Amino acid sequence: MVDLSDLDYLSDNLANRARIIAQDRSWTNIIDGKFEAALSGHSLDMIEPSSGTPFCTIARSGLEDVNAAVSAARTAFEQGSWPQMPAAERGRHLSRLSSLILEHFEELAALESRDTGKPLRQAEADITATARYFEYYGGAADKVHGQTIPLPNGFTAMTLHEPHGVVGSIIPWNYPAQIMGRVAGAALAMGNCLVIKPAEDACLSILRLAELALEAGIPAGVLNVITGTGEEAGALLSCHPGLDFITFTGSPEVGTLVQRAAAGNHIGCTLELGGKSPQILFEDADLDAAMPVITNAIIQNAGQTCSAGSRLLVHVSQWDQVLETLRGHFEKLVANRHDANADLGPLVTGHQAERVAGFLDLADDANIPVLAAGTIADDAPQGGYYATPTLFGPVPADSALAQEEVFGPVLSMLPFKDEEEAIALANGTPYGLVAGIWTRDAARSMRLARAIRAGQVYINGYGAGGGIELPFGGFKKSGHGREKGFEGLYEFSATKTIVMNHG
Ligand code: NAD
Repeated sequence: MVDLSDLDYLSDNLANRARIIAQDRSWTNIIDGKFEAALSGHSLDMIEPSSGTPFCTIARSGLEDVNAAVSAARTAFEQGSWPQMPAAERGRHLSRLSSLILEHFEELAALESRDTGKPLRQAEADITATARYFEYYGGAADKVHGQTIPLPNGFTAMTLHEPHGVVGSIIPWNYPAQIMGRVAGAALAMGNCLVIKPAEDACLSILRLAELALEAGIPAGVLNVITGTGEEAGALLSCHPGLDFITFTGSPEVGTLVQRAAAGNHIGCTLELGGKSPQILFEDADLDAAMPVITNAIIQNAGQTCSAGSRLLVHVSQWDQVLETLRGHFEKLVANRHDANADLGPLVTGHQAERVAGFLDLADDANIPVLAAGTIADDAPQGGYYATPTLFGPVPADSALAQEEVFGPVLSMLPFKDEEEAIALANGTPYGLVAGIWTRDAARSMRLARAIRAGQVYINGYGAGGGIELPFGGFKKSGHGREKGFEGLYEFSATKTIVMNHG
């Protein structure tokens, strides 16, 4: 493995470039502040989505590695300084990490882009957001207050927010750095110690961020990262009796397994399981403002965003005009390799590309019309996992395309006649993560915002994946618990009530 400290004598710029080249190394777990290969010696190839070729390896962790990481976090929690440290000092460590992320901005963005396939421009936005999570939670660490509760004379009651202890975190491949930022920022600010199991498909930025956390002075054992497959390392972590809490972002199927495992250990669990989020366009909407946002909300990250705006509900009177404008947008969209900075990159894996192709086949079988499509660049590498951005409509409300999370650059257009029908369609899937409402009628926008069962509702805008400060999470099958914002801090803490009888 390249010793990154050897690069410190270089100028900042040269060191950054050298670190970008050093991506092709064998990456290891980070357990108790040490760089550890899997004890079995097993590793996994990491594939570049743009070309389908392997470019580095990660540890394939098994039981001994998971045990070692949980035990390191337990020791750090029970015997280390982190949970005992004044909250303001913990916050300063997180702020230092935020600054280090910005110092390594170019390197981290290049790594995230290559590993996930997302265009560099988008990876840069993700790294900016990651730094902001640590800045936000660094500043918030000493601002979590309990309550005093009135009781009869002679008693004083108060509440404290205490860390859970050892927190397990299972992270998906779509926004590795950002999701680590929102989980680790909040969990560490509250004094927890963490074991993160990132996705085997894209996880390098998380390993690099954990290295930077050590550099920022976060003590060894507080933030451990073990890589490996979901079925092996993920399953072993989720049922580990050494955890006090677990947080999971990913598919509903695996979310069920994680929650079952948490129930077996009687620990709390938050689940963020994706969505089928509607954008609702009324007859009085500002189409010029709405159209680029609507396009971006499904194209961002090639549609692999839990909060992607994947259903567009259009008032019948606007159907033709919206279609004409949207067709113009879609037909200009080009997918290409991550470093070409095209509108979108490839999907993350061959498996994901097959999954998306399966939905297109289902749409074809059901004779759902293709209204517009973008292109894949001629010079995009043959082995890459590219998907063509596609607009379908009118999509039957009960079809797979309108009901299931495609997780690809596929937008479904559905017509509606009135407010009542718009609400019924918006709420007519098993999910409830985010919704967008486009209208100039303020009263109507508020009626809809209140009627739609979703964790976030945007009026005349849309924030796919956005909002460091905004509580985020699902209703219904989109999961439970809230991350981001101040609520994220409470999620990573347990309330203790203290009552004193002082006579
Ligand atoms: P997944 O749920 O299998 O993977 C997410 C994480 O869970 C990864 O870290 C993985 O290693 C881990 N995991 C897998 N099996 C596990 C198990 N048995 N126990 C514990 N952890 C396990 O998701 P996927 O297969 O990569 O993607 C499938 C679909 O899930 C996507 O098409 C999309 O619809 C959805 N998804 C949603 C999000 C989101 O942000 N909500 C993210 C990724 C995927």
